[in-house]
Amino acid sequence: MDFSKLLHKFTVVPSLSDELAPLQRIAYNLWWSWDPDAIALFKRLDIDLWNATRHNPVEMLGILQQTTLESLKQDEGFMAHLQMVDEKLTAYMSEKSWFQKEYNGDAELKTAYFSMEFGLHESLAVYSGGLGILAGDHLKSASDLGLPLVGVGLLYRQGYFRQYLNNEGWQQEIYPENDFYNLPLILERDQLGRPFEVELEFGPRHFKAHIWRVQVGRVPLYLLDTNLEENNPEDRLITSQLYGGNQEMRMLQEILLGIGGVRALRALRIIPNVCHMNEGHAAFLALERIRLVMEKRKISFNEAREVTRAGNIFTTHTPVEAGIDHFPTEMLDKYFTKYIRSFNLSRDEFLGLGRQNPADQYESFCMAVLALKLAGHANGVSQLHGEVSRSMWKNLWPELPEEQLPLSSITNGVHTRTWMSGQMGSLLVRYLGTRWLDDPTDHNVWRRIGKIPDAEIWRTRQSTRERLVDFARCRLKEQLKKVGATAKEIATADEVLDPEVLTIGFARRFATYKRGTLLMRDLDRLDRILNNTDRPVQIIFAGKAHPHDTEGKELIRQIVQVSHQERFRHRIVFIEDYDMEVARHLVQGVDVWLNTPRRPMEASGTSGMKVAFNAGLNLSILDGWWCEGYQGNNGWAIGKGEVYADLEYQNQVESGALYDLLEKEVVPLYYQRGGDGIPRDWVSMMKASMQSLCPVFSTDRMVEEYAQLSYIPSYRQWTRLEANDLGLAKELAAWKKRVFGGWNQVGIEATEAKLSDSVAVGSSLPVSVTVRLGGLKPDEVAVEGYFGVLDNQGVIRGGEIVPLAVTETLESGRYRFAGELECRFCGRYGFMVRVMPRHTELGLIYEPGYLIWG
Ligand SMILES: *Cc1c(COP(=O)(O)O)cnc(C)c1O
Repeated sequence: MDFSKLLHKFTVVPSLSDELAPLQRIAYNLWWSWDPDAIALFKRLDIDLWNATRHNPVEMLGILQQTTLESLKQDEGFMAHLQMVDEKLTAYMSEKSWFQKEYNGDAELKTAYFSMEFGLHESLAVYSGGLGILAGDHLKSASDLGLPLVGVGLLYRQGYFRQYLNNEGWQQEIYPENDFYNLPLILERDQLGRPFEVELEFGPRHFKAHIWRVQVGRVPLYLLDTNLEENNPEDRLITSQLYGGNQEMRMLQEILLGIGGVRALRALRIIPNVCHMNEGHAAFLALERIRLVMEKRKISFNEAREVTRAGNIFTTHTPVEAGIDHFPTEMLDKYFTKYIRSFNLSRDEFLGLGRQNPADQYESFCMAVLALKLAGHANGVSQLHGEVSRSMWKNLWPELPEEQLPLSSITNGVHTRTWMSGQMGSLLVRYLGTRWLDDPTDHNVWRRIGKIPDAEIWRTRQSTRERLVDFARCRLKEQLKKVGATAKEIATADEVLDPEVLTIGFARRFATYKRGTLLMRDLDRLDRILNNTDRPVQIIFAGKAHPHDTEGKELIRQIVQVSHQERFRHRIVFIEDYDMEVARHLVQGVDVWLNTPRRPMEASGTSGMKVAFNAGLNLSILDGWWCEGYQGNNGWAIGKGEVYADLEYQNQVESGALYDLLEKEVVPLYYQRGGDGIPRDWVSMMKASMQSLCPVFSTDRMVEEYAQLSYIPSYRQWTRLEANDLGLAKELAAWKKRVFGGWNQVGIEATEAKLSDSVAVGSSLPVSVTVRLGGLKPDEVAVEGYFGVLDNQGVIRGGEIVPLAVTETLESGRYRFAGELECRFCGRYGFMVRVMPRHTELGLIYEPGYLIWG
């Protein structure tokens, strides 16, 4: 008998009287997670329950007895606290924002941010690591800045796995269920109270999804869920695990995220004009946007592509192609054959959208390529990663010099209030006022850090380190209990670590390129550093390996085994189950944050930024964000950013450099104390680090840059193309067809420049070019000189573009263009000329195959 068919289901909710109702309201807005007063309020409710629920106020309210809740009303102190937090939330939700002040005229901007994972809080386990934390911090800053933005993602039944280690240090994975009814989730319903449904039919799969909302300050995050009774069992599994399952499952998840996500917003009557794809996972959204515009406006694929592309933004996060989803063409055939019928594209045209070389039948379908082809703006996540990305994807724009590829960079950041300790926050308020909260990008405010007395900032450092040591010991005890240690063994956990000792943290995903064991190549040398009697050092590790990554698990095992050696037992600790809570304690408590990626594999990295906001110092390879952050006096660089061909040799050199730095610089500086016990030079470095890094590496700065460089320009371009019944988009599509059609008649016939062997600096070089345009008019092309200083490989670096103007009409569709190149610097110069299409209203139009160099 199938009892599930007989089951009547219902939800029990806590019943709060009017006076206590604000508790519920606050618990259901994740704003509380970055407001210290709100956190204190929930802690005050019941500290044990707070810890037992993984800091989940919604669950707490469900568990607390009705009588306990009612008795709170008699507690005047509590009620005053509640009222204060409630008013603070109300004020936050309605305060005039940065966006209103800066972009009042662009009030119609509606941005949707799509991501496979969101790391908002440890109690909401729908994230795995860096990508998700970044997405979470993006939403929080968007809320703080008042940006009109909604998030779109998936609601996983199990989320990412929780990690524990067996006796040997081998990673074990458990997948606890997320209980949606005890999380800050609201099922979105229509006016009749029925849950909104998103329907997807792809290949053999036909399923529905519900939409849940998480409120993140002013920003709603919509999460899709296919675990519905009316779905087939295999479809219910689509939102079962984050990054679980095979390639087929991944494709279904990406269909749900991109296409289902756009449909979910429509169901909610949210029509975004700008869609941001956080990594290629979400790129299918571009297809759905095209489909919808085609259907509604009865226009062609190319016309729809012009307008929607203007409103799509793509951020890439990986410096290696293997890190990006590629799907075999058979899988696209299986799922998309019916879907693309309405596009009027041939199979090859469709598959070409995901191929670097559309004509290559054997190339698989790459989500990043799809995103790059259908997005108007694309960026990497640090300056170095921008460069690496341009080099990675240069085949998509074969005629452009690498430095000119339309793939820029916006460096990541972190959400200040989420990651800074309460103690540090109060210290800053005392000496800086509150401007650093309202405008964390203002360098002048952070300069005032210099005024904080050394003793005070050092005391804060001491106190957060103590908290970290406490936390690590507690976790270690729990870990020991779990593997059946004796009471005596468990008691020894109180002896590990020392709250006074220089504390190094290393926590991140255990991918091999992050080289978690670089510090362990010479254990005797490490022993001498950690166990020096006068100047000891301790290290706390944490991090998960992907369940299928045996090599990563092996690294964890090695670290744990080393930490079990008698000589390291008190000095090295591995904390299990790295999550946002562990991360918070680590970044707030460590003195030094160690990062040893193999350059340039770390696209950005953000954990070191979190440390900077807490007056910790970075000790890192010059990779990702640290290339921009490091200034010589605000932390340490391991090496000088060299890239080696021989990995083993590189590991050897860089671990040597790391030991040297520790022995000669880091440890002596920390233990060089004044009469008052304060390490003056260390404290100056802490201050220099905060002054230089805090104003730059926040998500406030990052989201402002996205707004200024991507969202607003995209929105404006989209508006222009869309206006007058898509007038310009249609015109552009027709114009391209005509200009590209006539392009084979375009050519550069002759270039003349008065070249002598040497030209005096400051003088100009006249250039003239004869161009054949066939049927095109001279204002339909741009003729340009590209010139600059040559590097030692004879390539122009940092070249300059000089537009040449038409000066003469010659017979049979030929024209002369001329201009002057200004030689402002000395050196060996080179120049070239090129012709590309130019639209009178929209400017230069680059498309592969339609640019000619002379
Ligand atoms: C910040 C954070 C990350 C990202 O760290 P990286 O520096 O990018 O390696 C990963 N996991 C958690 C839990 C974090 O808090």
